[in-house]
Amino acid sequence: MAGGSAIRGSRVGAGPMGEAERGDAAPRLVVSYFCAHGHETRPAFAADAQVPETWDCPRCGLPANLDSANPPPPPKIEPYKTHLAYVKERRSDSEADAILTEALKTLRDRRARGELIY
Ligand SMILES: [Zn+2]
Repeated sequence: MAGGSAIRGSRVGAGPMGEAERGDAAPRLVVSYFCAHGHETRPAFAADAQVPETWDCPRCGLPANLDSANPPPPPKIEPYKTHLAYVKERRSDSEADAILTEALKTLRDRRARGELIY
């Protein structure tokens, strides 16, 4: 049995990694994701894995999904405005709007500091 176990040992050492890289050890499912920039990402999943609905584009970081005709919209990144800028912008509006603006600013500040996450 000594010879048998030696052969078996060499196969274990060389086998699994090479088989996985050739893709013949387990079936793979290649899925195409599309981001708003038109990048196509094709990650491979195990055939029995649950494929996520969205995938972060590795090229631009935007979310991508499976629908090339309707990729997820890029998250809005609005330039930061000071409270004063809001007041100037909305000076013709009612004071209620200014209060609302202040509340929104507070919310944004808290979110920026990581106090609110959603
Ligand atoms: Zn992209």
